[in-house]
Amino acid sequence: MTAASRPPIVPASGEEPPGLYLHIPFCRSKCAYCSFNSYPCRQPPGHYLTALEKQLDFWSAHPWCRERTFATLFLGGGTPTIYGGRVLAALVGKCLSAFNFCEKPEITVEANPNAVTEQDLGELRQGGVNRLSLGVQAFSDPLLAAIGRTHTVAEAGAAIRAARRAGFANLNLDLIYGLPGQTLCDWQRTLDAALGFSPEHLACYELTIEEGTAFARELAAEALALPGEEEVVAMAAATGEAAARAGLARYEISNYARPGFACRHNCNYWQNGSYLGLGAGAASCLSGLRLKNLAAPARYSSLALAGLPPFAEAECLPLAARFRESVIMGLRLTAGLSFSCLRKRFGLTPPGYYGKILLELRAQGLIAVGRDSMRLTDKGLCLANQVLARLV
Ligand code: SF4
Repeated sequence: MTAASRPPIVPASGEEPPGLYLHIPFCRSKCAYCSFNSYPCRQPPGHYLTALEKQLDFWSAHPWCRERTFATLFLGGGTPTIYGGRVLAALVGKCLSAFNFCEKPEITVEANPNAVTEQDLGELRQGGVNRLSLGVQAFSDPLLAAIGRTHTVAEAGAAIRAARRAGFANLNLDLIYGLPGQTLCDWQRTLDAALGFSPEHLACYELTIEEGTAFARELAAEALALPGEEEVVAMAAATGEAAARAGLARYEISNYARPGFACRHNCNYWQNGSYLGLGAGAASCLSGLRLKNLAAPARYSSLALAGLPPFAEAECLPLAARFRESVIMGLRLTAGLSFSCLRKRFGLTPPGYYGKILLELRAQGLIAVGRDSMRLTDKGLCLANQVLARLV
């Protein structure tokens, strides 16, 4: 990248330490519900990592990064472990030496149960990875097969036990509810099985049918039997109750953690902080400047390898848009928003900016407004999408 093609950087203003995200867009196969930027392949291309490292070299020398201390590193996908533990550990090592990191950074790697071996896990731990996020999704073999997952319940259990043996003391399990054919009873069994492994963190997402997925095509062909709305609401309620019984508090719409184990990397997103995203389709927010890389790995790699900026989009959001975005993302956190923090950052507060809309949401019991804060109520958390849509 030449100096002339460098993106402009808006000066920082008292912001929190940023996070670093690396995207690995390859998986063994494509799950039926997946709309992530991921591509099925047998052997992930080596040149993709070379391109990623080239970007890493560029950004680690950039003044915006040099002036900052990163707090978190997250390798997501896709299935990062498709490259194996040794290669990923080397990539983590490169990040840690190229960027300034705080004394105890949170370093997460996402993995799928049948795409990570005990040896991989040991290599990741030795490389400094201290948080593992496992895509378990369901503890039911028929449901796993129905959503296109290629692992079994037994493999999920084996991966969790192997992660503990390798020394992972901060483990997240990803689960999905509202799956085709899933009953409340099925979901309760999945929750019980997941919590039986005493994870420090649980992420429970409601299935959404995204355009371009196999499920979207099946839905259009009326070949997808999804559970009814009431049953899905009951599943959401069961999630909170089971997590609370196991000592995991809800801190975000879909995320639960033991005290001290909320995901620092994702909290920074929800607080609309700065982050640098490297890899195909990865997004960055650098003090308000938004960058998005090209999604197709081949195109991304060829530009990055040629030393050209692999951006698909670059945008500097106006202050009011950044304020709205901070409100919408911040309300996802159960702790809610601080008006004085927003005023300091944007010179705006929700009561002054939204006026009547906020009064209506409050009267409907969807948000609770205090002297210097606001948050979604339990009712608001259930209807979060509708509430947040009114604040866009
Ligand atoms: S493993 Fe994850 S990223 Fe890969 S296809 Fe399945 S849901 Fe998508």
